[in-house]
Amino acid sequence: MTAVRRGTRPRAIFFDMDDTLISAYGRPEEAWSRTIAGYGDLPAGLDRSGLVATVLQEARDFWADPVDHRHWRQNLFEARRIVVRRAFSALGYAEQDMADRLADHFSRTREAEYRLFPGAHETLERLRMAGFRLALVTNGAAAPQRAKIERFALAPRFDHVLIEGELGYGKPEPQVYSELLRRCEVGAGEAWIVGDNLEWEVAAPKRHGIGTVWADMHKVGLPDNRPADPDHVITDLPELLARLGL
Ligand SMILES: [Mg+2]
Repeated sequence: MTAVRRGTRPRAIFFDMDDTLISAYGRPEEAWSRTIAGYGDLPAGLDRSGLVATVLQEARDFWADPVDHRHWRQNLFEARRIVVRRAFSALGYAEQDMADRLADHFSRTREAEYRLFPGAHETLERLRMAGFRLALVTNGAAAPQRAKIERFALAPRFDHVLIEGELGYGKPEPQVYSELLRRCEVGAGEAWIVGDNLEWEVAAPKRHGIGTVWADMHKVGLPDNRPADPDHVITDLPELLARLGL
């Protein structure tokens, strides 16, 4: 298969789902502050802003290890319970049931607030009409990821849908990128991947020779400690069409 030069138009485009097509887990500081500020079922005397800061720190520590990350992203509800229990205990509170209820409330609030980013369906439809092969590639457990795909009517807009919980492997494992190329029947130089995770959708696919588009949908800007530089950066989905000359 002939590889095309990077920067020329790809034949296939792979999309991450969470925080690329759907606003899901972005801006945790804002989400935890808002949830805790409006929540009544907390131990007497507990300082709310201290709880927000401690939960965020415990969450950063909890998700830092890639092996643990791989395990716990299959069960986000339980992972959040552990994080909030640790925050309670770091602040000297032993009320585990209360910690679990707050974690579950946060998880349900997050789910209720999932939404498609503006122009998501329209962008995918334009790409399909222009003849690109499209694949959705998402990490996480099968049931909640399928539920999101259904809720936002994404499956009919893609030629292929790859979910970590169904495949048994996920980004940034090399098999994922090989499988995407195989299913779309393109070489690495004929594919782009669009996503918000600088390891999973930039550094790892770049090692395969896939073109990379970093989706900065929450407009946080490229961090200084990034693992690799993306070929393109977009801050909304229709911008991708311009990058492709559509
Ligand atoms: Mg993502």
